[in-house]
Amino acid sequence: MSGFMTFAGESLKNLFKKPATRNYPAEPAVYPDRMRGHVEIEIDKCIGCGMCVRCCPSSALAVSKPKGTWTINRFDCVTCGYCVEKCPAKCLSMAKGYQEPMQAGESVVYTKSPEQLAKEAAKAAEMAKKAAEAKAKAAAAKAAKEAAGALDKADNK
Ligand code: SF4
Ligand code: SF4
Repeated sequence: MSGFMTFAGESLKNLFKKPATRNYPAEPAVYPDRMRGHVEIEIDKCIGCGMCVRCCPSSALAVSKPKGTWTINRFDCVTCGYCVEKCPAKCLSMAKGYQEPMQAGESVVYTKSPEQLAKEAAKAAEMAKKAAEAKAKAAAAKAAKEAAGALDKADNK
């Protein structure tokens, strides 16, 4: 009898309580603020330094500077957040929530926008031009110095 009373009491209490479960997916999940759900990247800010690749404990990342790509295997990622901490360009972040389901072993490739790639190519060309000009200037100065030295020698004879 006492068992029945306990059961009846619990049932009555639960009738007036809010449900302990959520009607997902009709009701969206609310994630805690500090949740480490998945890594996100603002790819156009990436400088291709490879720091994230070197510090990743599960070898989930790959970076190609010439192609302007950043690749992550989300199945291998253990969401430790080291890459986010170490990224010097601050283009990585830990986002709340989970990713869409995908095949095991599948990687996601992020590629820089054509505008950003064009901007970087123009900057690289500009730097190469400046380096070539500086080299030519140094060579000309050296040649002039050598010529002056040769003239001095001829005068002293
Ligand atoms: S969160 Fe950790 S495991 Fe995931 S990609 Fe970054 S460093 Fe690698
Ligand atoms: S550490 Fe940051 S800037 Fe460097 S390659 Fe990784 S994402 Fe790009």
